[in-house]
Amino acid sequence: MNLPSTGLSRGEISSVLRDEATKDVDWKGGKLWTLVYYAGDDVADLLGETFKEYLYTNGLGPTAFKSLKRFESEVIAMTASLLSEPSAIGNMTTGGTESILMAMKSARDWSRDSSQTSRRAAEGRPEVVAPETAHPAFDKAAHYLDVKLVRAPIGPHLRADVDAMRELITPNTMMLVGSAPNYPYGTVDDIPAIASLAQERGLLCHVDACLGGFFLPFMRMLGEPVPEFDFAVPGVTTISADLHKYGYSVRGTSTVMYRDGDLRRHQFFSRADWAGGLYGSPTMTGSRPGAAIAESWALMQYLGEDGYKERVRSTLDSTRAIIDGINAIDGMTVRGEPAMGVLAFGSDAFDCYALSSAMRKRGWDIERLQRPKNLHLVVTPNHAKVVDQFLADLRACADEVRDRPATESGEPALYGAIDSVDDDQPVNELILGFIDSLTRVEEGV
Ligand SMILES: *Cc1c(COP(=O)(O)O)cnc(C)c1O
Repeated sequence: MNLPSTGLSRGEISSVLRDEATKDVDWKGGKLWTLVYYAGDDVADLLGETFKEYLYTNGLGPTAFKSLKRFESEVIAMTASLLSEPSAIGNMTTGGTESILMAMKSARDWSRDSSQTSRRAAEGRPEVVAPETAHPAFDKAAHYLDVKLVRAPIGPHLRADVDAMRELITPNTMMLVGSAPNYPYGTVDDIPAIASLAQERGLLCHVDACLGGFFLPFMRMLGEPVPEFDFAVPGVTTISADLHKYGYSVRGTSTVMYRDGDLRRHQFFSRADWAGGLYGSPTMTGSRPGAAIAESWALMQYLGEDGYKERVRSTLDSTRAIIDGINAIDGMTVRGEPAMGVLAFGSDAFDCYALSSAMRKRGWDIERLQRPKNLHLVVTPNHAKVVDQFLADLRACADEVRDRPATESGEPALYGAIDSVDDDQPVNELILGFIDSLTRVEEGV
């Protein structure tokens, strides 16, 4: 395909854009249970207007764009307060993956820094111990940074087995990880136990609150039971919290937060003698989307505590109705104790993948989990309107597939695209081929 020699009209382009969007899943109708966190048309309008105003701004130049400097530092300060440590410091990044990558990069360089006094510098390849349920972004960061990620099994409550983590610590271990909550089951690991183990061994402790960072603090304000997970827990050194999930900002926004500014220094990159001038950059990207920074600030100012609390209330009410509804269906159960709006459910009696296929025929897109097979829901305020219909269809579909026995075999479940970074597994070849194909233009489309 070549660039058109003469550009199309704006009208022609809009009509193609509108047509193509009709091929996408019906996320706005509440039929999709992952990937999109929609907070309402008023929020969407605010984000769109702010985007237009800050479209061309570049967060790489905070001295040129004083507006962005203010917005990013205020987003970070508001996040710090929400995470119980107003003096915590951090940066905005493009997503949970980059936040985790930056926390791992800081940890790696900290572990090599012979001047740090809390602990002797690691001699071998630095290691991180994370529970099985921690996000693949940790594998990806380890892959990029030449760090060894050691996975610990989870316990019967689908939370990290902290004793197993303890057993996996070696002289090269630099950091322990817990999730608040993890993506597959929505359970929050025992962060106080993990952080105190880290302190006892002189290690860093990262809490992945990509999902919970902008949800659990508001649950706490609502007087709901919330496990301890943030900087209020001694020993927690870094936290990742996504603005583009339950923070409701645009895709491409997250935060990486540090209790201690000295540790954050290891995140930065600089070069003093380049012909283009002094170069310094805090995160992975060079140029940074200024509009995403401005939008996040505008959104947080717009929603305020009340706006977030209202959406958390709605999400919790929907989630509890869904949990009760699922548990009331013969043969079906919710797994573990989901802490907020993310949950896994399945059946030991019949095949839950057959159930999700039957639900797809009725227009519902439900994500599958694997090892073991389960189904997965991320509940948002946009789902309140469909809870009753969803449960009615789920009951009907469970009856349809009741004679399909539960098995462990079957097609693998697909999250985004990546399963693990173990290059020996042929399934990884499939995944890599799939990712490769995504940027090839298809004939006849
Ligand atoms: C989504 C998620 C991530 C990764 O974030 P991206 O924004 O997709 O890069 C990491 N951890 C958890 C728990 C998540 O839910």
